[in-house]
Amino acid sequence: MEIKGARKGNNDLLRHHNRALIVNLLRDQGPLSRAELSRLTGLAPSALSRLSAALISEGLVRELGKTPSPSGRPPILLGLNPDYASSIGLKIEAERVLAARVDLLGRVQEEVTVPFEDPAPVNVLSALEEVVSQLLRGKVLGIGVAVSGFVDSVAGKCLFSPILGWHEVDLSHPLSERFGLEVHVENDVNALTLAEARYGAGRDFPDFVCVTVGEGLGAGVVIGGRLYRGAFGGAGEFGHTLFDPRGPRCRCGERGCLEVFSSDQFLRRKARELGSSVEELSRRARDGDSTAEAAFRELGEHLGYGLKDLVNLLNPQAIVIGGERTTSDGDLFLPFAEEVLRKHAFAGAADRVRLVRAKLGEEGFLVGAAEVFVENFFAVPLG
Ligand SMILES: [Zn+2]
Repeated sequence: MEIKGARKGNNDLLRHHNRALIVNLLRDQGPLSRAELSRLTGLAPSALSRLSAALISEGLVRELGKTPSPSGRPPILLGLNPDYASSIGLKIEAERVLAARVDLLGRVQEEVTVPFEDPAPVNVLSALEEVVSQLLRGKVLGIGVAVSGFVDSVAGKCLFSPILGWHEVDLSHPLSERFGLEVHVENDVNALTLAEARYGAGRDFPDFVCVTVGEGLGAGVVIGGRLYRGAFGGAGEFGHTLFDPRGPRCRCGERGCLEVFSSDQFLRRKARELGSSVEELSRRARDGDSTAEAAFRELGEHLGYGLKDLVNLLNPQAIVIGGERTTSDGDLFLPFAEEVLRKHAFAGAADRVRLVRAKLGEEGFLVGAAEVFVENFFAVPLG
């Protein structure tokens, strides 16, 4: 976040602005002494002292003891109290709901998983209500829900999810009515992208694409430090870009989508041809079985062609690659993806793009689902 300088004055807006500056500095660079805060904000020591006293009595900031100092009186450090408030992050999968309470620094405090029989909306909503009830504690800023498919974040609805078999499912109103909290619904890969952008592998890149390889193939696009959701919320459906118009049917209804060629669906087809399972295929590839190795290599090459298109379209600084298949078997296919990308991208556009692994894993989806509330909490009022 860009932090502008302190403003002087005594009306409410200015007080809120300066207070937000202090809180943001403690979040990003804390712990800090009052003198350091005064220097960084440009606020006079007396004003800084008054504002910090208010924040301490509120419980949002606390004194953390003294730093060792070679000379003179060691200053007392101030730090953010990350437990002052929390948000709840939820992720809906095909057979279970994952949930976490996330603190103000984006750390998971407690995690719960609840399975369900089939993903009919009524079952999933009741699982969501169950996990939220278990996690509610203290001051809760809101509930974030990550779900696969085409999501309208403004309406709080999942418009279409092939994995869940959903059309037009309203998630936000039932939950906000039940718990009296604000609810934000996000595409799952977008949620992971938000978390990687703030806490993970995307931190240093204002322009990056987060790609997930697992049961499906997804992408989240960050442009100029902001998640790009598209005009209606459907940006980043990387898995449903075309790979081969004569290819097998995709679960979205179309034929030959990239997802069919570079996700677990591809590995399952290969494993079936060999009378094997994906886990067995992975074991055999690690043992040097050339047929199994070739299956992962092909997946990697297909992915590489997709990444080439992404790089040609968006020219990002980095591609952050995550998802379950990457976590377990990335070493078996990512080198081939990178080779194809570097070799085939337009006019050497891929020379400088960095390929990095996602840092946050499964928890990233939950942290990212909750992130919108954390960001709102720290937002500096305009004025
Ligand atoms: Zn498709």
